[in-house]
Amino acid sequence: MTRLDPDPRPHRLATVAVHAGPEPDPVAGAVMPPIYQTSTYIQDALGQPHNGYEYARTRNPTREALERALAALEGGSHGFAFASGLAALDTVLKLLKAGDHVVAGANLYGGSHRLMEQVFRPFGVAFDFIEMADASALEGALRPETRLVYVETPTNPMMQLTDLQSVADLCQARGLLLVVDNTFATPVLQRPLEFGADLVLHSTTKYLNGHSDMVGGALVTSRDDLAERIGFLQNAAGGVPGPFDSWLALRGIKTLTLRMRQHSAGAQQIAAWLEGRRDIPRVYYPGLASHPQHALATRQMAAPGGMLSVELGDVERARRVVERVRLFALAESLGGVESLIGHPASMTHASVPLPMRQAMGLTDSLIRLSVGIEDPDDLIEDLDQALAGT
Ligand SMILES: *Cc1c(COP(=O)(O)O)cnc(C)c1O
Repeated sequence: MTRLDPDPRPHRLATVAVHAGPEPDPVAGAVMPPIYQTSTYIQDALGQPHNGYEYARTRNPTREALERALAALEGGSHGFAFASGLAALDTVLKLLKAGDHVVAGANLYGGSHRLMEQVFRPFGVAFDFIEMADASALEGALRPETRLVYVETPTNPMMQLTDLQSVADLCQARGLLLVVDNTFATPVLQRPLEFGADLVLHSTTKYLNGHSDMVGGALVTSRDDLAERIGFLQNAAGGVPGPFDSWLALRGIKTLTLRMRQHSAGAQQIAAWLEGRRDIPRVYYPGLASHPQHALATRQMAAPGGMLSVELGDVERARRVVERVRLFALAESLGGVESLIGHPASMTHASVPLPMRQAMGLTDSLIRLSVGIEDPDDLIEDLDQALAGT
């Protein structure tokens, strides 16, 4: 079979999203990579695995195509796919040992907080959760045992930003590992490795897949030493995605740039409409000039993204709105083509202790929107009818 040599020129992200990952299929030249639905591979002779493939926990060609795409999108040299975002975080925390200390943002995804506090703390890893928006708070929280700094930006659901450049500079100066959960922004809007982060984490369940039809996670790094250890842990613990889920994520990634553009445009329009209503106490969206970190958002992100939160001022009102919407689906998760609405206090963040929720402004009357790629005017009409008379 003949094929032109791969184009060696660096490409822009929309092109990378379409082309990164798959290599020409040697059997039929299939444009999309086959789903290698197999647990094992035949060996050519004793001790001679075929092309290095022995067992599918260790290596699977469909998963490897996804891993190449993930690395290329984040501008890293090594990508790793996992069975979920939390399986990816589990692997990150296994880089540590008892006695190590982690500083993380106070406003983390609830499951990330739970994994740190309820699984790794009992093994002897210490955690502090601080306001990452405040650079001096980070400096003050560091201890001699601090090994890792964990950042989500924008945060879920309060939409707070962390200045990636200043945190990366501080971590580099102190020899700390900086891990950034880039699930909300995606590499289309923000590329943490370029600011100096060591590791990028994703729940591919969300925007990267984008179609709400699989659960997965990812890690990307440019550091060979970290990649070697992560590869070891990925195989040793086995939190890997199956080939079909890998294929779905890879397929979703092809439209990531288009989708993120539409998610952002829709969320911007809806946020502005909500802010213009007199009956809405507060809208949290980095694309609004009223957002306290709007300037940082403009500097650090290509667009503000598809997530926003709305303070409705009253718990019963929040309940009525989430139950009355017709286009928005009341559901956990985010980042799919369809719009979702959620109540963080009772859903995604129910596992976060109440005092912590209160401290970050996550009230029982806050709702969160994941704006899909529908026509924003239809979404606004849906919210309008749901809010009417509340
Ligand atoms: C969903 C999510 C996770 C966890 O990912 P799973 O795929 O559900 O395990 C981590 N971080 C953020 C920001 C998320 O939204």
